[in-house]
Amino acid sequence: MELFKRILFTLRMLHRYRHALAKIDSSTPRQIHQISPANLKHNGIRVLVLDFDGVLAAHGEALPIQELQPWLHDCVNIFGSTQVFVLSNKPLQSRINYFNPLKIRCIADVKKKPYPDGLQKIIALTGQSPKTVMLVDDRLLTGCLAACIAGISVTLITRPYVSLSKRPIQELFFMTLRFLERYIVQWYAIF
Ligand SMILES: [Mg+2]
Repeated sequence: MELFKRILFTLRMLHRYRHALAKIDSSTPRQIHQISPANLKHNGIRVLVLDFDGVLAAHGEALPIQELQPWLHDCVNIFGSTQVFVLSNKPLQSRINYFNPLKIRCIADVKKKPYPDGLQKIIALTGQSPKTVMLVDDRLLTGCLAACIAGISVTLITRPYVSLSKRPIQELFFMTLRFLERYIVQWYAIF
């Protein structure tokens, strides 16, 4: 029932925000480590919100990939320890335990993206203007749509981490979803 309600909400919001979604750059190949935290700060971003699956690791992983640790430290140093968040639709305890000592806050107990609740909670916690908050996500119809609804900035990860050898069915499912989302958004924005 919850899933059905979330799908209906997604379709309603897709209709409302289709032009904003189509403007999100989905053609530039982009991985998380290619994003410069210093450049974001220079361009007025004050709060960074990171999705987990696909963005910090392949789907379903307990922890971010090891090589991202310096990049995560950079984010905390540049934005400050109260200004970096993880907002995942799967807030596993292992992930929360990993981010706690890094001073990165995981937002849990909120409605899943594309509901904007998690982002609105972050806006309220930081007291920052929505436009200075940026979400980095690999999904158009979950994270990016939530960002459009909340009125925050967003960067789409177009080269997400995948582990086809470890979880082939799950990864193929999400690869298909990402492709379809991009296609649907571009097509629907014509109207
Ligand atoms: Mg994701």
